[in-house]
Amino acid sequence: MPDNLGAQPGSTPGAPAFERLCLIGIGLIGSSIAHIARQKALARTIVAMDVSADVRRRVAELGLADKVAETAEVAVHDADLVILCVPVGAIGEVARAIAPHLRDGAILSDVGSVKSAVIADVAPCLPKNVHFIPAHPVAGTEQSGPDAGFAALFRNRWCILTPPLEADPKAVARLAAFWTAAGANVEIMNPAHHDLVLAITSHVPHLIAYNIVGTAADLEEVTQSEVIKFSAGGFRDFTRIAASDPTMWRDVFLNNKEAVLEMLGRFNEDLTALQRMIRRGDGQGLFDLFTRTRAIRRGIIEQGQETAAPDFGRRKGEPNGD
Ligand code: NAP
Repeated sequence: MPDNLGAQPGSTPGAPAFERLCLIGIGLIGSSIAHIARQKALARTIVAMDVSADVRRRVAELGLADKVAETAEVAVHDADLVILCVPVGAIGEVARAIAPHLRDGAILSDVGSVKSAVIADVAPCLPKNVHFIPAHPVAGTEQSGPDAGFAALFRNRWCILTPPLEADPKAVARLAAFWTAAGANVEIMNPAHHDLVLAITSHVPHLIAYNIVGTAADLEEVTQSEVIKFSAGGFRDFTRIAASDPTMWRDVFLNNKEAVLEMLGRFNEDLTALQRMIRRGDGQGLFDLFTRTRAIRRGIIEQGQETAAPDFGRRKGEPNGD
């Protein structure tokens, strides 16, 4: 794939798609974008900014960016692509701070796991000459911080763009090309639909994992050491998900309330039906459901979003679809 995919018409062949990429928030996602942007020469210059001085120091040590700025206002100076990689609850505040400093015609994007709330927070504060194109790379691990990132994180994962109806198609195409060059498959979606889909595929599963691990930790009859010792029987995979970043996931639930509560309602109804099947000894009902769910797992593997390995194909540092 050519590195200049998405380059502006009339730009030099072979030139990077963007002159100056600014990443704000250099954790797992921000550092992974920095790695792949560097590897594929997607931008001539990469500028990074993080609120934490320790992270900024580490970013410099790791050579993740050409420049490390101390404030977001300075970091965005002259950038033609700015990607906000901070927790969902901080995206609005960063957008308000940088809005007056964004370059004319710049593309402003984000990677937040929730879209409607982010758009409601960010869109009103932006000047007209900035293209706001929200995005969500559906790829992650349970690790955080600048050391956690790696270039292959987005490979063969979906990146969902939720551009407003009035968005400039050329700007959308440029951002889509950036993510395609980073290895992702791009899909365009309406933000409310994104939030509903992700509520069931990512947010509720995380809540279930947090809940089951919390329940196990609070049990009186089963000791913590027994829980850890016998965790291979299904519990271990939940603990991996429940080890995900507390700030990120707190913000996801606070900002995707409606869709999560809607999906939880359905989940509770189905759980009650399962309880009834167990109580009534409805073996056929249980068998039929488990057969249907097995087919869904096979479908995911067939679409290349997982492997058939017994550990679900996940070794440390490998991506999953968060
Ligand atoms: P992360 O590893 O915790 O990194 C976030 C970084 O942003 C931290 O270094 C944090 O610093 C910094 N930060 C917080 N507030 C800031 C501010 N106001 N200005 C500048 N920097 C700030 O998180 P992540 O996993 O990369 O997630 C980042 C975003 O990606 C979130 O919106 C999340 O919803 C989305 N996302 C995550 C995943 C995933 O699986 N992890 C997948 C897809 C999308 P401090 O730690 O000092 O606060």
